[in-house]
Amino acid sequence: MNQKSLASLLALACLAAGAAHAQMTGPEQRIVAAVKQGSPKALELLEKSVRINSGTLNVEGVRAVGEVFRAELVDLGFETHWVEMPTDMHRAGHLVAHHEGSEGKRILLLGHLDTVFDANSTVPLWERQGDRVRGQGVSDMKGGDVIVIEALRALKNAGSLDHARIDIIFTGDEERTGAPLAVTREPMVKLAKQADYALSFEGSGRHEGIDRVSIARRSSTDWALHVQGRPGHSAGVFSPGSGYGAIYEGARILNAFRDQLIEPSLTFNVGAAVGGTDVNYSEATATGTAYGKTNVIARGFEARGDLRFISTEQGDRVKRHMQDIVAASLPGTQATITFRDSYPPMPATPAGQRLVELLSKVSQDAGFRPVTTADPASRGAGDIQFTAPYTTGVDGLGAAGSGAHTDDEDLEVASIERGAIRAALLIYRLTRPTPP
Ligand SMILES: [Zn+2]
Repeated sequence: MNQKSLASLLALACLAAGAAHAQMTGPEQRIVAAVKQGSPKALELLEKSVRINSGTLNVEGVRAVGEVFRAELVDLGFETHWVEMPTDMHRAGHLVAHHEGSEGKRILLLGHLDTVFDANSTVPLWERQGDRVRGQGVSDMKGGDVIVIEALRALKNAGSLDHARIDIIFTGDEERTGAPLAVTREPMVKLAKQADYALSFEGSGRHEGIDRVSIARRSSTDWALHVQGRPGHSAGVFSPGSGYGAIYEGARILNAFRDQLIEPSLTFNVGAAVGGTDVNYSEATATGTAYGKTNVIARGFEARGDLRFISTEQGDRVKRHMQDIVAASLPGTQATITFRDSYPPMPATPAGQRLVELLSKVSQDAGFRPVTTADPASRGAGDIQFTAPYTTGVDGLGAAGSGAHTDDEDLEVASIERGAIRAALLIYRLTRPTPP
């Protein structure tokens, strides 16, 4: 390459870099500057919230963390209240906040206050390690909660929050959801029904420097298989009078699942199975016992498993197929299967895809890399799924870290500022009088 072409290449590169900045309007540049100005305070807020243990069952800790964020939201002009849960649920409840406005789309922001680290966890609460921070819930998801607060603070300080319609719910029981789900997630569903978009700030999946967000997440449903056989002497097994026994029938059913149900985006696991003459299985402790002799045809068989699917259509269809398999009993046996749904599925939609495109544009306009979607099979269930039947949502807008739910959970400090810039610009664009 000669000098001249190198020079023109450099000029082109400078133009490209400058072009990113030119994509932001004056107000947007002020928002970015406000986020950057707030970054030292953001880290202080993170430390303050992380230094309070808030394992889901540490109800007082969860409330104390809620109070830290509530005070910030009041400062930003939000009306806040605490949603109590019934006492026998033994959960802290949720922090809810509203900002009334008249322009643009109505946005619902999701976070959670609890962590998987219970009150007597030995994992250090907070440890700064250079450009990373280790501690209980730093990335799952107090970092994401702080991103929410800092994005809103920047919008406020840049004078761009006034007319925005924003609702917030930070749940107190995301990691060990209270029961029944219909009660504990009712406030979220209510907010989702009036929202145009739901933005959730669970940790982002970062792969080779590219952030991955989720617009699809699979349901998690548990199933229980109960089988009964006719007890008798083993010499009579397979005969019309004695039949096949409960264990053969249970094995037939599980093998038929494996043989007939496998398809994309679907998994079904058997987690436990017990069979014999006398069978007990306790749901509370997930423990089973069986008594059976080699020369007696088995009377009972129990199996427990899960089923994860990407859409209601897939879930309903597969459940029907499982029921058909269960109903085709071997002679002398009878079986039933029951399902317990927990998180509804969140299928990818064109509207969700458009939201990610908006986010990716925001990211690039701010000088960051594009944002892509993650494989729904790569993560577990999350709160965003409760909003999915009612509004368009994206999850994974939170901080980047690793080791969530382990003793090594950590967070990349710079991801707070990056996340807050992206969140603030996305909220800003969606809440304009004529959103993109
Ligand atoms: Zn989480």
